[in-house]
Amino acid sequence: MSSIQYTQSATLLERAKKVLAGGVSSEFRKYNHPHAIFYTHGKGSRVYDADGNEYLDFTLSQGPLILGHSHPRVLEAVQEYSAQAQLFAGQHIKEIELAETLNRLIPSAELLRFCLDGSEAVQTAFRVARAKTGRQKFLRFEGHYHGWMDNVCWGISAPSAEALGNREEPSVYPWTEGLPEHSKDEFIILPWNDPELLKQTLAVRHHEIAAVITEPVMCNSGCIQPEAGFLQTLRQLCDDYGIALIFDEVITGFRLSLGGAQQYFGITPDLAVFAKAFASGYPISAIVGRKEWMDVIANARVIHAGTMNTSNATVAAALATIQVLEEEQPYERMFAHGRRLMDGLQRAAVQTGHHVLLQGPGPMFHIAFTDMKKATDYRDVLSFDKAKLGRFIAGMHDRGIRVIGRGLWYISAAHTEEDIDHAVHTAAAVMGSM
Ligand code: PMP
Repeated sequence: MSSIQYTQSATLLERAKKVLAGGVSSEFRKYNHPHAIFYTHGKGSRVYDADGNEYLDFTLSQGPLILGHSHPRVLEAVQEYSAQAQLFAGQHIKEIELAETLNRLIPSAELLRFCLDGSEAVQTAFRVARAKTGRQKFLRFEGHYHGWMDNVCWGISAPSAEALGNREEPSVYPWTEGLPEHSKDEFIILPWNDPELLKQTLAVRHHEIAAVITEPVMCNSGCIQPEAGFLQTLRQLCDDYGIALIFDEVITGFRLSLGGAQQYFGITPDLAVFAKAFASGYPISAIVGRKEWMDVIANARVIHAGTMNTSNATVAAALATIQVLEEEQPYERMFAHGRRLMDGLQRAAVQTGHHVLLQGPGPMFHIAFTDMKKATDYRDVLSFDKAKLGRFIAGMHDRGIRVIGRGLWYISAAHTEEDIDHAVHTAAAVMGSM
């Protein structure tokens, strides 16, 4: 075993717990190995903690750091524009530039509004869909994460696949206490990637449904791609019934292409939500959509607001991030690196006698310990060996490689082929020791 120490982080966590509930500022941060870790700085593909440990980082801070940590162009832009002012809570020219950029790049972004994070933007999309259709419910899918607000805090945890019950009328479980009971009545939930079930459900219940929301790639439970034709069927059914198709591109946005998953798959939703990767870790998100839908905001039938929206730092960070992505066009490289890593992890597993399932497009992908050859929905994901994955992630962490605990890997433009090969080599050692 390696001799890595976490003593400074352990001490800081005890101090933090006296003033921060649970010692953290977001629940997910607790689930690090061996406990919440305190970080000091990051550069490119590396991040450093309070014990002086260096990690090759495949979490990219849950996705946002598509250019790696501390990209100089982003820092420069933020510094320069923040020196002029920090927050006007009024309009400024750079936010038009940013909106024009998204409008040019994202197929569905005829009109848009900026918010602070993904959770807020999702709720704005629901409001738009309800206002335009006059219907109340949204349809969503098991295992898809759409933020931590009440009405989406169901269907993302379950004791087992069996506990979800029949596919036509799944049982839903709350992710947290404190949810209003009625928040369960806001949505209809179905397993993903099942076009026939969707057709049947919409045929009967379309008059209740304002929107269908989906992650175009299910990245929050495994990393599962849509089956051939599934997104097309969704698009067609939403058109047939006058339902808003919402793509939650919080992860896929700027990660699969500059135009998001909608460009990558060639399916244009009515509304879409972008966050994470478009501003290198600064808090900005966008709800974008076709004019006929977004007009309800334009003409103030739907209110969207926020004191902190489009602060100088966030807009400058987003503009700089997108500029670098457009100049560098790192996508081919990120896909190739992701696939090289997936292949390497698969080889390492075979060599060490483990059965793993690697799924995902490349710039993000998931590793599971399972005998399954393919997972297509959340019910499959629930059968993965979580305990074994936990041991693998911990082993990687103890050897200086940081991966998200649920097995999701993110590739940035800053990762090199050497980084990828180092991760594969380390994974082989960890699997060999398991
Ligand atoms: N949608 C998806 C697909 C996400 O992955 C997330 C965050 N992981 C959210 C919404 C919520 O975004 P935020 O954490 O910025 O509120």
